Amino acid sequence: MSFEYTLLDSSDDFVRAVESTIELFKDAFRDVLVGRLTIENSLREEEHLIGTKFCYIDAEDNETDWYIESTVPQNTFQTDIAAKRRLVCCHVFRAMTRLTGNVPSEWGILVGVRPVKIARTYLEMGLSEEETITRLQTDYLMSANKATFITEVAIKERPFLVVEANHISIYIGIPFCPTHCLYCSFPSALLPKDHAQIESFLADLKREIMATAEMIKRYDLVVDTLYIGGGTPTSLSDEDFYNLLSFVREQIPLEAVKEFTVEAGRPDTITTKKIEAMCMHGVTRISLNPQTMQEKTLKRIGRNHTVRDIIEIFEQIRQSSIAVINMDIIIGLPGETVEDVRDTMAQIKRLAPDNITIHSLAIKRASPLKEKLIEYPLPSFGEAREMFRVAEEMAGEMGMKPYYLYRQRNIQGNLENVGYAKVGAESIYNIRMIEERQTIIGMGPSSTTKILFRDGKTFQNLLHPKNVAVYGEKLDEYLAERDRVFNDMAYKEE
Ligand code: SF4
Repeated sequence: MSFEYTLLDSSDDFVRAVESTIELFKDAFRDVLVGRLTIENSLREEEHLIGTKFCYIDAEDNETDWYIESTVPQNTFQTDIAAKRRLVCCHVFRAMTRLTGNVPSEWGILVGVRPVKIARTYLEMGLSEEETITRLQTDYLMSANKATFITEVAIKERPFLVVEANHISIYIGIPFCPTHCLYCSFPSALLPKDHAQIESFLADLKREIMATAEMIKRYDLVVDTLYIGGGTPTSLSDEDFYNLLSFVREQIPLEAVKEFTVEAGRPDTITTKKIEAMCMHGVTRISLNPQTMQEKTLKRIGRNHTVRDIIEIFEQIRQSSIAVINMDIIIGLPGETVEDVRDTMAQIKRLAPDNITIHSLAIKRASPLKEKLIEYPLPSFGEAREMFRVAEEMAGEMGMKPYYLYRQRNIQGNLENVGYAKVGAESIYNIRMIEERQTIIGMGPSSTTKILFRDGKTFQNLLHPKNVAVYGEKLDEYLAERDRVFNDMAYKEE
């Protein structure tokens, strides 16, 4: 017998809330859960009460019934329906905790990508740090540890989120990679062998850059951070890479740019010429992403480079004028142990980067890994958490503090991704992108433009298609829509 549940409430408002909470437990306690659970919600509007009835029949046909009730808060930042949904999630979370005798994660009922936003909202409502920590625990059933952690991150982010209305960030996505990493579902393409295809993509991208330059002028916008990501931008040839940076610099006014990042994920794509090109064009931050410093894992995840390559290229970048080096690592890679993570962090510590981003492996539906889970055993939830703890502890030993955080669906151990930085080396772009407090113009396939409206809170997203050819075909249509949103909703011309 497996675990089944029935929801005697078909209203869309609650179905998703219940399902997402149960999923947390089904993933974590797959082997423990057996039996049949029935859930029914009731609402007494006049008394502001929401109640949830549970009936559980175990494998021996023993029945247990119980009921959890809460008052719907009247003074919250949430809409009434969102507050009710949250309470239902809390009820289900408590019930499932009772059934399994355990909690699946320290995040309580939270499944969203941006938990720090909630802490920041409480702080902006006038709650003190202590009150915010308490509310996160009672409203979201978060552990004291996580509630404190995200409240501290929210406080640290504050100065970076003070942005003038006409200041924007720019993201340019290069959708090519030299090989496909096992765990990645990113819609990047392998770098085409036929250079004509790369030229065609670069011509489309340049068209978009020119249209953006024109828009920046028209609305008197100021660019304060620029991020070239992907894919792997450095997978372009030396010449294409140099020309792209030159073109960006010619077209986009960069005088006010505080941070210019290039993602150079794969060390085997970085050359002396590319480092020189980045220095010449004012790059201030480079993200070199080994993911692990274990040779066996690099091979397993489909990387074509060695640990030695990472160390050599790091040292070369360190000798350049690029001030900040970030390194990404992933917790929970197939076949890795806690000791592997400790060794990876020890090697990174010797290199002494300025930022480390600790990612937890997310099993993405479209990744090759999803198909090969039997072949590549993943660490258990408990092991993944211990690995994360070790990585965090060692980031602290390097004098770094957490400065931004986000979560993903299907993430190993129900964990999170956390950016650590030495004081003064925090990535402004990363904070603003995750916290959605600035207009970000995204260019290139599968990038997103996020247009913040005049109220400084609501925004509209415009998504580019993932496919490189379709991106080019739809570009004019996209640019017309982007202009319309800018003019109508955000930066209307007087
Ligand atoms: S380098 Fe990055 S984007 Fe490219 S396949 Fe690997 S993880 Fe995905």
